[in-house]
Amino acid sequence: MRIVSIETRSYRHPFDPPFRAAWDPVPRASQDATLVIVTADDGTAGYASGGDGLPDRELLERLLRGVDPRDNSSVRRTCETVDFHGGRPWAVEVACWDLAGRAAGMPVWQLLGGDGGSLAAYASTGELAGPQERASRAVALRDRGLRALKIRFHHPDWRDDVRVVEAVREAVGDEMEIMVDANQGWRMPGDLAPPWDLATACECAAALEPLRIHWLEEPLPTADVDGYAALVASADVPIAAGEMVRQEHEARDLLTRGGIAVIQCDVLFCGGIGGCRRIAGLARELGRSWSPHTWSNGYGLVANLHAACALSNHGYVEVPYDPPAWSAGRRDWMLPFVLEIERDGTIAPPPGPGLGVEPDLDALERWRVA
Ligand SMILES: [Mg+2]
Repeated sequence: MRIVSIETRSYRHPFDPPFRAAWDPVPRASQDATLVIVTADDGTAGYASGGDGLPDRELLERLLRGVDPRDNSSVRRTCETVDFHGGRPWAVEVACWDLAGRAAGMPVWQLLGGDGGSLAAYASTGELAGPQERASRAVALRDRGLRALKIRFHHPDWRDDVRVVEAVREAVGDEMEIMVDANQGWRMPGDLAPPWDLATACECAAALEPLRIHWLEEPLPTADVDGYAALVASADVPIAAGEMVRQEHEARDLLTRGGIAVIQCDVLFCGGIGGCRRIAGLARELGRSWSPHTWSNGYGLVANLHAACALSNHGYVEVPYDPPAWSAGRRDWMLPFVLEIERDGTIAPPPGPGLGVEPDLDALERWRVA
């Protein structure tokens, strides 16, 4: 089996009303996404999307033409060399896993050696909401079977965010795990707001400790590995970070020198499924866990879900879900179906070989821009 071509199709899907992501100063009136189609010499194709900034298609095609898509070492290492010089090529690597799964007649999670095809979902909320609104949405999630949710911080004063967590804890009692995302690891393009400093991160962690949170995510810039080490030494809550790292060594440093409990690399942003498999293995050896960031589009969620079902030693997986602002339908506009969380709070990748998604290219045409 050999790769013969790599095609890309770009889409822009409108959001009306716009989605007001807590971490983005600009409301989102649309979402851009590129679908990667890797075709093999037997006529079969693999598909993937998620992660902005795909490098030059012609370069990827030239370098990967003739390579067996099931030879992950060759595919991943070639993509690494492209990644170094700019752009994230990892949707190509994921599309090769899709091809490999189709060729083997098994889902990617099984191809990766996984022993179970589902995980407990945590509803990853996206909007900023006040205490009452967030608490009532949390109760609705609990009543729908969810066992965990993640709350975004972004009020001008973080103490107001802590009040939101207090209200949610009071509303759901101990029936739900609560993750907290401070979103201080990185900034959207052009957002020059200063990140928290170590003192703020420590103070916030101390304020959250009595609320029995599951983890505190990205309270410091990703590059501040020494800051993470100091925070971990002082804080009594598990610390998660690394959702946007691009290199394995950054993940290694956050785990080893930074001492974080949960590394969150996304297969579309860091090393593909093959690269995150290595990071997940390191985390496991250190007695920590890998629990991927999944917030890009429906395809990105599906790819990370397959990888998490096979490789994650964490009990929960991120599922972007904050109805009505961010419904499953809004999230999954690229997919020919909506991926639903089961009534018992678990989520499974779509069944079928590869990633389990056969894209409806005709239906997607209406959003096509290139
Ligand atoms: Mg995050």
